[in-house]
Amino acid sequence: MPEKKESKKTKELKEKLLMDKPRVWDRLSSQEKEDVFDYARGYMDFLNKGRTERRAVSGLLDMASQKGFVNITDALGTSNRIYHVSRGKLLILAVPGQKPMTEGIRLVTSHVDSPRLDIKPNPLYEEEGLAMLKTHYYGGVKKYQWVARSLAMIGTMFTRSGKVVDVEIGLNSDDPVLTIPDLLPHLSRKQMEQKASEFIPAENLNVIIGSLPYEDKNASDRVKLAILDLLFSKYGITEEDFIGAEIEMIPAEPARDAGLDRSLVAGYGQDDRVCAYTSATALFQLQKPLHTCVAVFYDKEEIGSEGNTSAKSAALDLFLMELLEKTEIPSSARNLRHVFTAGKALSGDVTAAVDPTYGDAYEKRNNSKIGHGIGITKYTGAGGKYMGSDANAEYASWVRRLFNEKNIMWQVAGLGKVDEGGGGTVAKYMANAGMDIIDCGPPILGMHSPLELCAKDDIWMTQKAFKVFLES
Ligand code: MN
Ligand code: MN
Repeated sequence: MPEKKESKKTKELKEKLLMDKPRVWDRLSSQEKEDVFDYARGYMDFLNKGRTERRAVSGLLDMASQKGFVNITDALGTSNRIYHVSRGKLLILAVPGQKPMTEGIRLVTSHVDSPRLDIKPNPLYEEEGLAMLKTHYYGGVKKYQWVARSLAMIGTMFTRSGKVVDVEIGLNSDDPVLTIPDLLPHLSRKQMEQKASEFIPAENLNVIIGSLPYEDKNASDRVKLAILDLLFSKYGITEEDFIGAEIEMIPAEPARDAGLDRSLVAGYGQDDRVCAYTSATALFQLQKPLHTCVAVFYDKEEIGSEGNTSAKSAALDLFLMELLEKTEIPSSARNLRHVFTAGKALSGDVTAAVDPTYGDAYEKRNNSKIGHGIGITKYTGAGGKYMGSDANAEYASWVRRLFNEKNIMWQVAGLGKVDEGGGGTVAKYMANAGMDIIDCGPPILGMHSPLELCAKDDIWMTQKAFKVFLES
């Protein structure tokens, strides 16, 4: 059949009225295309170093220190770029601006915790000649994705005398890895009949940590004893030291290029370390911005933002009050309210990219697509927008105009079909404090899985978007 030809008038009308949905790649110069790949290398390096919230915070802090950021307790007035770390798991960075903070700040938030398996407080036991560790999953995981794969064990423990011990096993290529074997297909008839949410029960997420017995043949639990002996000689830790420790089992493999064209990053923890990296590197490029610019990197987002390193904590309030004092504005509750209500924020968090294989789960007209730039999510929540954050039309319009004016390639974003599920971000806590805030971030495939996929051009565009926002 011959192709139908539209009239010039129709074309012009379409150009005038319809939304353009360009690919980021089509709009980049050859230099920018190189920049996209260069930028992704730095990002993957960060992902590989920052495999846990603590390591992400220390990785960001290393980068910030190199860029001249100083601890808020050492900062003289606002002549410095400033950082604050809370309990090693929450980081705030600030670049003081020209205007008083009470006339509004620019804030970008992200979170550095990711779904994983945590070791239980009393994890170690021996059964059938194997030493095993009990785990408790953290955040929204599909449990079956965590069996039959190489895991690394990273965390922070304290000895009985209070000495801190950094545990890390499985990241180096010559390290041993840990794993949770799956049941063989030959004996899986019953398992295969169960629902996906049930066929790997949480209490089956037990990690094999060793199989050699201690030399005394008359001893009980010889494998467990041998493992404890090994852990003691390597780290000086005993069984009791697991109680209260923070040890995470995470995918052992590093982030890699994905696709024959190397256009994507495949790696664990990109939700939401991609927004952590893009917002930090955007902030680093600022010199003396108009407004004071702040980037916050939260912990505990994946379990509902509870606790003293989360977005519900008082950490940001206190930091902003300290910063007010540095600018010789009284840090009254009233002034803090002004900082928030006059301020503008982006809640940087990944959004679900439409996966062509599971197209049915998405509402394609309102969900974001790989390679079309940063996704803007006007509202989050589940069902009737419950528990979500819904940006004001005025503010959504402001962000849209800013992005359009500065050639930021953005697209509409939302979390799947209505009533298919849903989710929230930290945006609502800043909104509750009075800020104008909207969710935005790059689309991601396989969110919350051990191997998430994010497109390099989207990552690069996200960094650009954060930068123009902070500079506004
Ligand atoms: Mn997230
Ligand atoms: Mn998440």
